[in-house]
Amino acid sequence: MSEHVDEGTVDVLVLGSGCAGMMAALAAADAGASVVLHEKADVLGGTTALSSGVAWLPANKYQAGHGVEDSIEDGRAYLTALSNGMILPEFTEAFLQTVGPMLDWTEERTPLRMRLVEGYPDYHPEFPGGKPGGGRSTEPSLFSFDELGEWADRFLGFRRSMYVGETPVGGGTGYLTPEVERERAERRLEGLGRGLLGALLKGLLDHGVRVVTSSRATELVTEAGRVVGVRFADGTEQRARRGVVLATGGFERDADLVRDFLRGPLEHPPGAPSNTGDGLRMAMKVGAQLGVMREAWWVPVVTIPGSDGEQYSGHGVQLVQRERTLPRTIMVNDQGRRFTNEAANYNALGGAFHEFHPTHFRYENDPAWVVFDQGFADRYGGYGFQAGEPVPDWIERAPSIGELAQRIGVPADELDATVQRWNQLCAEGRDDDHGRGESAYDGWCGDRTAYPGPHATLGPLDEGPFYACPIHSSALGTKGGPRTTVDCEVLDVDGAVIPGLWAVGNVMAAPTGMVYGGAGGTLGPAMVFGYRCGRSVAQGGSDAG
Ligand SMILES: Cc1cc2nc3c(=O)[nH]c(=O)nc-3n(C[C@H](O)[C@H](O)[C@H](O)COP(=O)(O)OP(=O)(O)OC[C@H]3O[C@@H](n4cnc5c(N)ncnc54)[C@H](O)[C@@H]3O)c2cc1C
Repeated sequence: MSEHVDEGTVDVLVLGSGCAGMMAALAAADAGASVVLHEKADVLGGTTALSSGVAWLPANKYQAGHGVEDSIEDGRAYLTALSNGMILPEFTEAFLQTVGPMLDWTEERTPLRMRLVEGYPDYHPEFPGGKPGGGRSTEPSLFSFDELGEWADRFLGFRRSMYVGETPVGGGTGYLTPEVERERAERRLEGLGRGLLGALLKGLLDHGVRVVTSSRATELVTEAGRVVGVRFADGTEQRARRGVVLATGGFERDADLVRDFLRGPLEHPPGAPSNTGDGLRMAMKVGAQLGVMREAWWVPVVTIPGSDGEQYSGHGVQLVQRERTLPRTIMVNDQGRRFTNEAANYNALGGAFHEFHPTHFRYENDPAWVVFDQGFADRYGGYGFQAGEPVPDWIERAPSIGELAQRIGVPADELDATVQRWNQLCAEGRDDDHGRGESAYDGWCGDRTAYPGPHATLGPLDEGPFYACPIHSSALGTKGGPRTTVDCEVLDVDGAVIPGLWAVGNVMAAPTGMVYGGAGGTLGPAMVFGYRCGRSVAQGGSDAG
């Protein structure tokens, strides 16, 4: 049920309560605007609440004292080298130039405190300007939800009192000592995505922003070509004197939009169920120009039958990052062949899953299979089981590679040859077929006792029994939407600003094109452009005055 109350006219309406919406609302309120933030779901946070809250911010202030050498020039060289013609240079410039002011503002004017995730390599660290030793990935400090009063229990997801370095992906165990766990629980400390949002929400409440849940925007209200308000699913309408901000996330949960716009398969999206492309549709209806529509923040996932959901992003879907990077596991297609560097970053792997075979006329690598041996299960665990625990029944198994191939329906001689070849490459310490282990990024999420070095990710499959489970092409969120100025003002099909309308976060045409620069590559731009967006809308945009 909607919680609408008639607010009369306010300066700014923000739609969506993820990182982008909260940043924009906070920056607008801090610049003097009266702001109401509407969230469609009955809980706050969107996909951000399920995320690790990492923000990729080149040349950030936290690098000082950590031996990181970085600069705006390095950031520019890096993004430019990776662009493939998809990044508009003015967005690179605006992003890099705003990291510093945004972080200073965050510390001066909001309760959010970011810090470095030490050592996390960029996702393509050997490219010009890349950072193999990390320094650009930041995360929120733990934040006490005691400060949020009745709002503390109104976020999507569940409490995770951790820093990234304490999780398996960051090189930790994923467990806290009972004393630390108790202390953090008593203080209701949260880290990662919800920690980020908790601090932002506290800032919003302190700035007098009204936050409304169960409030789905359905249509933009226009007058003489200007967006002047929003219509909601319950039939009410609210006016905005200065502007409306679309921060409604991506369209990954809308099968029609996914089919019609994306360049390849996206199945089992792990993010917020409410991200159904509402903002994209509203923008299209008022004539917005669209950009980056084919792209998403790609990620491979497995689905875990019967899981209660809590530890797997809420609905049985698990991102596969560490499990495909560790030694003693490979990915094969239904021909039984390896098709990529399994340890590459998840976004880039999307390209391997989307490879289209011209003769067979199908996506040959989706779904694929992850194959691992008993040594993997004993040493590392994954997919919901701990090292040394029995491998869950839903994962296929067989005493030999040939029998496993028969069970999963791939050619036995091919899979056998693939595993033999892989074991030989591991013995030689070099993956001459797909270059796995060559980048400083490969192995970061692998066996950290062997990191850096190829054996953090290279290791044979030679201890039966052998296991396999299907792995699918998915995405954290989509990247396409209305094209905007660098201050997030939405453009029409002729390139003119649509007065009164802004877009930020995954709903906007992504400022970084098809690139995922490093851990936090989506939330870093969301924070920076959220800040720019909020300041711009508070002033009424380029047509003000
Ligand atoms: C498991 C997981 C881990 C991740 N970890 C990271 C990470 O560490 N770093 C990183 O950079 N990225 C990460 N991501 C990706 C990142 O979370 C998203 O790209 C990012 O949160 C998008 O932010 P947003 O504000 O644009 O959208 P969201 O956070 O999804 O927020 C959009 C909000 O808009 C609301 N909404 C939708 N339609 C309407 C409407 N009609 N009216 C009102 N409200 C509406 C939605 O309900 C939702 O709450 C992760 C994703 C997942 C799934």
